Amino acid sequence: MDKFLKKSDQHLVVKENVPNQRKGTKQKFKEEYIEYGFIASGPEDAQIPYCLICNSALSNESLVPNKLKRHLETNHPGHKEKPREYFEKLATERNHQSKKITTYLKLPEKGLVASYKVAQLLAKRKKAHSEGETIIAPALAIVVETILGPEAAEKVKKVPLSNDTMSRRIEDLSSNLKDQIRENFEMELETKVTSSENFEMELESKVTSSR
Ligand SMILES: [Zn+2]
Repeated sequence: MDKFLKKSDQHLVVKENVPNQRKGTKQKFKEEYIEYGFIASGPEDAQIPYCLICNSALSNESLVPNKLKRHLETNHPGHKEKPREYFEKLATERNHQSKKITTYLKLPEKGLVASYKVAQLLAKRKKAHSEGETIIAPALAIVVETILGPEAAEKVKKVPLSNDTMSRRIEDLSSNLKDQIRENFEMELETKVTSSENFEMELESKVTSSR
């Protein structure tokens, strides 16, 4: 703010360091910010800058050229000379990936988590996980339909509780999804796949030993 409004020439306002932030005014993303490696994230009236290189989101106050530029130069010095096209390509890839991910991970993802929890319960009680299909699923549907109504029951029916569905889900996760998702999603997925594989093995041995 050092250059802002010199007393000697008040008519000359040096604009470069003046944050355009009246109270309550939100910063808006401008197309050219892609040059600093950023795209816009969040709703239209509360946009935040999202860094394409480290996948981190900054605050709305940082949505000004000098802050974005500083992030790029400080955190990603190796990328600061990259042309605009380079970041545009990253943005396109990113967009493509997140579309694939969201279509895949909505209800099936929740169902997957639910089915693991049920399988875990069965393992703890030393029950075969075929009981998920024969007893738990129908019982659950009855309870949910009675208390929450038919619409909720329909969702519950989509939770994979059979042997076949569960192992198919696990295969899907390891082959299909792993190919699709990279970078920040990959680590998270890795943990999920590994823990579900471990869990499957653990479950398998428990079921076998309880026979
Ligand atoms: Zn970054």
